[in-house]
Amino acid sequence: MSRYDLLVRGGTLVVPYLGTVRADLATKDGKVAAIGLDISPDEASQILDATGKLVFPGAVDAHFHLGIYRDLAVDAAEETRSSLVGGATTVLSYFRTGQHYLNKTGPYGEIFPEVLDAVAGHAWTDYGFHLAPMDTAQVHEVPSLVEGSGVSSFKYYMFYKGFNLSADSRDAKAFTMSDEYDLGHLYQLMEAVAAANAATDRRVSLSLHCEQAELMRFFIDRVRGDGDPQTLKAYSDARPPLTERVAIGEATTLAQATDCAINLLHLSSGEALAAAREARAAMPGVDMRFEVTLHHLCLSHDSLSGLGGKVNPPIRTSEDNEALWAGVLDGTVGWVASDHACCLEQEKGDELWPALPGFGGTALLYPILISEGMHKRGLSPARVAELVSANPARAYGLDGRKGNLLPGYDADLSIVDPDLEHEVTTGLLLSGQDHCPFEGRKVRGWPVATVLRGRIAYQNGAVTGTPRGTFVAR
Ligand SMILES: [Zn+2]
Repeated sequence: MSRYDLLVRGGTLVVPYLGTVRADLATKDGKVAAIGLDISPDEASQILDATGKLVFPGAVDAHFHLGIYRDLAVDAAEETRSSLVGGATTVLSYFRTGQHYLNKTGPYGEIFPEVLDAVAGHAWTDYGFHLAPMDTAQVHEVPSLVEGSGVSSFKYYMFYKGFNLSADSRDAKAFTMSDEYDLGHLYQLMEAVAAANAATDRRVSLSLHCEQAELMRFFIDRVRGDGDPQTLKAYSDARPPLTERVAIGEATTLAQATDCAINLLHLSSGEALAAAREARAAMPGVDMRFEVTLHHLCLSHDSLSGLGGKVNPPIRTSEDNEALWAGVLDGTVGWVASDHACCLEQEKGDELWPALPGFGGTALLYPILISEGMHKRGLSPARVAELVSANPARAYGLDGRKGNLLPGYDADLSIVDPDLEHEVTTGLLLSGQDHCPFEGRKVRGWPVATVLRGRIAYQNGAVTGTPRGTFVAR
């Protein structure tokens, strides 16, 4: 029997918070077992040649939506397969009761096991869940979810008190299937999350979708009354960056009042980022971390046609793209995620308001960070690894298991050819989604192999073996 299972030979290891080092890496029983200058091939049962490649820790795609518009098992199979293309080996998916997903409500104590059952055996990556308590009874479940269900992060959607997901209906209660889903609900949820955080040494946090509903009401009416253009620019005008700024003010104020650790998700605009920076400076005692998405970094509404790019918060301008990149470069932004939500072209259609929001992007996580961040803007490889792997792992209770290459960590690896160039096509991404707002973009720097817990799961454009992803309790 060999001393090691897999030997990744000849590559340059990218170690978060440290830098790059030319070394071999060997795995045993799914863990990183050794790092050395020249580990003998005789000691391993399988060799992966990484000469000339960068060996990154597998990405932790911290914002995902398994099963939002499709069957959970189908989405788990097809969309985590797409994650492997982009070097992600763990996805952390949002789930809530109400419309879409399982289209029902009830206690998470009953519904969450259903979710886990539906996904089990289908995922190509490891996976965890963030849950959104939509009513008071579910808020009361926070302690048991933290202690008994491996869920250490929760979510609140600031605009659901006034709108459904597409923003074509104001019957918010029919959408959330709850009673009062307002700032009072948020306050009690933050109290519960803060209490759970204080009771454990893991970080227990609340993630927030920051768009302010009353302002959205006004701006949506204005846009619809002004010719109702069916464009992505109109969608951005109807829920402008000001709605993010006000929501960030509300969320951070309540976080300080309750001592709740928060994550401000998918900041989409320069103004949202500025508001987040100001809140952090004003409230240095509050644990607040900031996320941006690939699409808010790279897509602008003047460069997209059709409605395939409808998403919440909306796609903004190229100036916003650059403002967000500046926040990535200067360390304001904690991590980059995909906000992957497989949404077929037929669910978009050609009418702006009923079009379902969201689209996929997980297959572009390392490729976009390397192409746009490293090659174009000078991010170091280690910083790239921090942004898509180590930082989200730390924020969400996976430190010591995911997000690094050190011995003892899960042997989750993304072997990247930094100079491999592909034009993005839907076929390349191995997702179930039949369109892609990034289509046609030239991207340089792609994974050539992705390793999940010591076994090659993706190589040279195809998945290998069977889905081996398991639930990670956090
Ligand atoms: Zn999302």
